[in-house]
Amino acid sequence: MTVDSKAQLLDEISKLRAELASAQQIKEEQIAELVKSEQRFAMAMRTANDGLWDWDLQTDTVYYSPRWKSMLGYEEHELGHQLDTWATLVHPEDRDRVLQHVQDYLAGKTDPFEVEMRMRHKAGQYLFIRSRAFLVRCNATNKPLRLIGTHVDITHRKKAEIYDKQNTKILEMIAKGNPASEIYDEIALLYEARHPGMRCSMLELEGDTLLHGGAPSLPKEYCDAVNGLKNGPEVGSCGTSTYTGKRVLVENIDTDPKWAEIKHVALPHGMRCCWSEPIKNSSGKVLGAFGMYYNHPALPNEEESNDLTSAARLAGIIMEREHNQKRIRDLAYTDELTKLSSRAQFYLSLERLITESARSDRRFSLLYIDLDNFKNVNDSLGHDVGDLLLKECAQRLQIACREGDFIARLSGDEFCIIVNDVIDEYCAGKVAQRCLDLISKPAVLAGRTLVPSCSIGISHFPADGDNLQALLKASDTALYEAKDLGKNRYAFYDEELTKRAEYRFKVEHYLRDAIEKQLLTLVYQPQIDIETGSIIGVEALSRWYHPLLGHISPVEFIETAERIGMIPQLTEWALYTACKQAASWRDAGLPPIRVAVNISPSHFLDEGFVPLIAQVLQDTGITPCQLELEVTEGVVQTNQRNLLTFKKLKELGVTLAIDDFGTGYSSFASLKHLNIDVLKIDKYFIDDILTDQKTHLLVSSMIEMGHNLGHKIIAEGVETQAQLEILERLECEIAQGYYFSKPVGANEISDLLNTSVPA
Ligand code: C2E
Ligand code: CA
Ligand code: CA
Repeated sequence: MTVDSKAQLLDEISKLRAELASAQQIKEEQIAELVKSEQRFAMAMRTANDGLWDWDLQTDTVYYSPRWKSMLGYEEHELGHQLDTWATLVHPEDRDRVLQHVQDYLAGKTDPFEVEMRMRHKAGQYLFIRSRAFLVRCNATNKPLRLIGTHVDITHRKKAEIYDKQNTKILEMIAKGNPASEIYDEIALLYEARHPGMRCSMLELEGDTLLHGGAPSLPKEYCDAVNGLKNGPEVGSCGTSTYTGKRVLVENIDTDPKWAEIKHVALPHGMRCCWSEPIKNSSGKVLGAFGMYYNHPALPNEEESNDLTSAARLAGIIMEREHNQKRIRDLAYTDELTKLSSRAQFYLSLERLITESARSDRRFSLLYIDLDNFKNVNDSLGHDVGDLLLKECAQRLQIACREGDFIARLSGDEFCIIVNDVIDEYCAGKVAQRCLDLISKPAVLAGRTLVPSCSIGISHFPADGDNLQALLKASDTALYEAKDLGKNRYAFYDEELTKRAEYRFKVEHYLRDAIEKQLLTLVYQPQIDIETGSIIGVEALSRWYHPLLGHISPVEFIETAERIGMIPQLTEWALYTACKQAASWRDAGLPPIRVAVNISPSHFLDEGFVPLIAQVLQDTGITPCQLELEVTEGVVQTNQRNLLTFKKLKELGVTLAIDDFGTGYSSFASLKHLNIDVLKIDKYFIDDILTDQKTHLLVSSMIEMGHNLGHKIIAEGVETQAQLEILERLECEIAQGYYFSKPVGANEISDLLNTSVPA
């Protein structure tokens, strides 16, 4: 190397050194600068009113600035540095949307990054937060490194916005006259949107009862539990506020004594605090209560407190409107004097019922009622007494109605009753008769005793008219008929029906009397042992002769007795009479025979039945197996209780027979479980046994199966020798029928028994 070149090299080196030094210098300056900016950034993060966050995408750690934390109520040392910290605080309904937004931004699909979300404050309430961010990329590789962003609390603005929008909507609904329940819900939603996490309710007060008004975000179970509660000095928040007329703030439902009785319906649904403001009308009367709930114990802040006031005021406007409208409706649709429905309401209801009944193929009856000689009362005693009489009659008619019947005063002394869900034509007749009975009771009005009466016309939908006009006309015609027939009575539009109803009513009336006074008699039909030809028993059958109506068939009066609930008395009488008769035959030294008594299924299933049998046996002293109870197959079918009745009767030792066997639906299988002694094959089969091969076969197998199950067989309605011979061949043990004897009086049975006593 030459000197020159060496010097040159040294020169180069020193240049390089100088460059290096200056480069060093620059770097240090840059570092210092960078440190400064980092410090400034940190400073900015500490002092700025916006919360800052810095998400390192490499390490997935997030820096949350102190302001970011304090905005949500946390101290600087609280909360971890993970994405999860944010994720658990953001409203669950907003989380996915925001994360999607982040992804779209990172993928370059959106720019800039700006999103709004709700975040939970440490104290429990939600804030509206606007988040903006930008991406920091690596200079060399352009790889995303960090996402740095800000949080601004926009709760205030957001609430104002929502409030305005919802408020406008509610006012529109009020103006359009939307149903109150819809508006209540909207008011609740308004305040719920303003205070995320809050749930609102409106209750109406009727008398002292709280009724559900609206609570769209509270669970139905809770609303149902509150609906119908009586208010009082310690009934939760709303029950108390409606009672005292003052605001009630319950910070903790779990511990507040006012909630002690009902907290079990709130706590399971998360509610922890409840503030209630009474809702009042313009004159200060309490109409209901507005309730605000949170899922955490709290007292209202200033804003919430103000909102509670304004919410109750807004709800009050609607409630007052509702009350006024109801009052107007009441005035139009109720009769001021009697408080019954008015003519207007009557027409509306009748129209509606006609449409509904036509659609569902149902019948109903219309009673047109007119007080007899009411004009005389007005003319001679004055209108005040007339009014009192109308009120009295209205009350009596109401008592005569069944639940669900509709009653109205049409005008003056005219009333109308709609008898709904009629089973038969007579239903209305029954209601009409009750009206006649009640109205014609003496009434003491203004110191005078009056005996009012009324006439009633009855028409049926759809038979007598399928529209309002036709139906009213038919009732009116029937009413005039009732007046023509002498007043204080009812008439159907269909005259034939009036006659039948009258007869039926008379039968009911006289039968009740006959059973009570024991005016029925028993006849006895012998039952013959086919092998020996001797009488081994009798069936007791009831007879009723009435001096005006003549002989009435047992089929008819038994059915009537069922209808008027007189079967137990009838059966009791029949049991005693038959058993006493058996005892007196025994005492007369006649051969012992069984007496069979028919028992109606309804009575057999009655609780008092088994004790009655025990009593009869005890009182008459007959051998229990001498009493045979005949029940129809219907009884066999049924339930466990029934089985028990059979069992207890067997324990008493009485004989049990299934009457009319073969006509019902009982199977041999169901008989197996019951301790039956006798099957009575119905006359229907015996009638055809000679002429119909199939019937012959049926009877044959009934007898065989019955025997296999250990039952004795009685053939009913045996009328000819030929029938008897077949039955004998089929090994049927007992026969009963006109071939031997019609049902006859007890004395004739004595004679028959005497003659059959072997000499
Ligand atoms: P049931 O229990 O099937 O009674 C047998 C009916 O058949 C009796 O009619 C009897 O007179 C009639 N009969 C008997 N043998 C012959 C015959 O050879 N030919 C014809 N044509 N008829 C015959 P009755 O007395 O009119 O009774 C009718 C129904 O009334 C009875 O049918 C029974 O279900 C009911 N019944 C009668 N008395 C009472 C009672 O005291 N209590 C209850 N619960 N029901 C009774
Ligand atoms: Ca019978
Ligand atoms: Ca029978």
